[in-house]
Amino acid sequence: MAHDEPQAAGPTKLVIRNIGLLLSGAMEKPILDADTIVAENGKITGIGRAKDLNAEGATTIIDANGTTVTPGLIDSHVHPVAGDWTPRQNQIGWIASFLHGDVVGLKAMAIFAQRAFWTLRPGGVKVHAGAPVIENEMVEEDFKELAAAGVKLLGEVGLGGVKDGPTARKMVGWARKYGIQSTIHTGGPSIPGSGLIDKDVVLEADTDVIGHINGGHTALPDNQIRCICEGCKRGLELVHNGNERSALYTLRIAREMNDLSRVILGTDAPAGSGVQPLGILRMVSLLSSLGDLPAEIAFCFATGNTARMRALDCGIIEVGRSADFVIMDRAQHSAGKNILDSVQLGDLPGIGMTIIDGIVRTQRSRNTPPATKVPEIVGH
Ligand SMILES: [Zn+2]
Repeated sequence: MAHDEPQAAGPTKLVIRNIGLLLSGAMEKPILDADTIVAENGKITGIGRAKDLNAEGATTIIDANGTTVTPGLIDSHVHPVAGDWTPRQNQIGWIASFLHGDVVGLKAMAIFAQRAFWTLRPGGVKVHAGAPVIENEMVEEDFKELAAAGVKLLGEVGLGGVKDGPTARKMVGWARKYGIQSTIHTGGPSIPGSGLIDKDVVLEADTDVIGHINGGHTALPDNQIRCICEGCKRGLELVHNGNERSALYTLRIAREMNDLSRVILGTDAPAGSGVQPLGILRMVSLLSSLGDLPAEIAFCFATGNTARMRALDCGIIEVGRSADFVIMDRAQHSAGKNILDSVQLGDLPGIGMTIIDGIVRTQRSRNTPPATKVPEIVGH
């Protein structure tokens, strides 16, 4: 409750002009030919050339200074516990710290959390929380009640008592029937107390997302990862706190199958590896550089792919969607000649500003390397 977030008092109109590079988040057209975005009352209303858009009545004008605008980055896999404190690492304020790296949308496990997190938004970050872990005693009616109470996500299948394919499949089916999305723990146990979930259980459970297909931390053998990729059409989630070699292997398989739109990114923080404020940017850079992937496509894994898979209204620069943006630039002294080149060389970009629901939340990031150029607020 200590957070007093900037709230828009009346109607707002945001204009971001002089954009050097606009990444859409959508794989079919990752780079847009536009230098200006207009957003009214938190939603995008115009994308194009400055001369073709109506900037009249703007309440905030941002000069991007030729830098890059991307959709707000989405972390598909986090484990918030109580507010902004994580007992596993005894850290406080970690969600706002993510904002300085990346995040606008997160998913969570605590059953009480959905409403709490929708009210408590550290730094304005949107936390999609309240994801119960399924247990053997649950019946169809429980899923109906959860859905009616606003729960939209299940916690990782496999973390609770249900560890067998047939029971998981039955409950995932009930969840889907009532509009609740599901994900599964894939691979060896993360921490003492959790168990192995292999390809047979993953494929039988048929969750919407194959949670950390690269392990959290212990990955399945490559032949099992291949079987999962080929055996279903579900989302393939790659996490920072997993096996990085297996992430690159999964990327290779997805690309061979011409199925890159299934790839989404998460951190799996705060796990044993800790809280990773730059985790999503680090994944983008890892996959782009070592996976030999154009950086603008890697950014889609962290934005549009996740938004589509999880039915979020952010993640893509498109009229009607949430005005959630990150303004970034090549980090100072990167060997890359521009931002995309620098990411493909393995560097992180520098974040100059984050905007959520059309409101500026942070300016130069305290966590990323400093951006070469930063945007400025030039008018109110
Ligand atoms: Zn897991």
